[in-house]
Amino acid sequence: SMIPGRIFEVSAAPMPGGGAVVVLHDITRIEEVERTQRDFVANVSHELRTPLTSISGYVETLLDHEASLSSQAREFLTTILKNTTRMNRLTEDLLVMARVEAAEQELHPAPIPADILVSDAVQAMSGLVQDEEAVLEIGPTTSCHVFADTDAILQVLSNLIENAIKYGKAKGDARCRVVVSAREVSEPFEAVEFSVRDFGQGIASEHLNRIFERFYRVDKARSRESGGTGLGLAIAQHVVQAQGGWIRVESELNAGSNFLFTLPKALYPTL
Ligand code: ADP
Repeated sequence: SMIPGRIFEVSAAPMPGGGAVVVLHDITRIEEVERTQRDFVANVSHELRTPLTSISGYVETLLDHEASLSSQAREFLTTILKNTTRMNRLTEDLLVMARVEAAEQELHPAPIPADILVSDAVQAMSGLVQDEEAVLEIGPTTSCHVFADTDAILQVLSNLIENAIKYGKAKGDARCRVVVSAREVSEPFEAVEFSVRDFGQGIASEHLNRIFERFYRVDKARSRESGGTGLGLAIAQHVVQAQGGWIRVESELNAGSNFLFTLPKALYPTL
């Protein structure tokens, strides 16, 4: 950077007739505040893990001796266990989020064929859902190589597929259909666009802009019921952007959603 120890955000715009305007914003202070917040969140989530593990351990042990419990005690303990499980998931997601935001999660990008990523993700998720609950399909998929960290992208794909299963049931349907595909695009640069599409409840347009925000959930009660924390899409966005891609959603209420993200093509697939 131009001044040692300071961080600048750069924006530039071309001028009519040639040349350009470059604007520098000193964002050192904002970066510091954000880092402090991130560290705080990471520390708190880390500290919460030990007591949580202890609580769920004791509750599980009590539930193991079911015969000696009154039905009310059993019911209360089951509720406690459900809520500690939820808190566990929340602290896990917060930790992942803090790591991803701090760019501490090391990414090791390498050329990988898009169709392998798609089939690996679909296969992994197929093992986790019942046939009666969801049908996972692979749509048209390019074998073009992208340049990305395989584990991180499989995580993103699994996350989107999981959401499609959670929210992708049309009213009255017992089963949902999810189609995962990947195609080559050349705008605004050579990339592969992955798509995870469902035909379920969809998302009302007023929520579309906010869906990638941390903790944002359209239907809090329903999301909580399905174990959601509201962090999945925020994490997905960070991971995709960290690899030079972008993520977006197209959705229509009661018709379904299509989550799309791009990754740069690998220039030298065989290296
Ligand atoms: P959550 O843990 O709540 O699923 P996410 O960040 O993954 O958090 O998603 C945020 C919110 O976006 C969800 O609570 C849900 O309201 C909405 N959402 C995500 N995926 C879909 C989908 N495929 N169809 C409809 N709504 C969705």
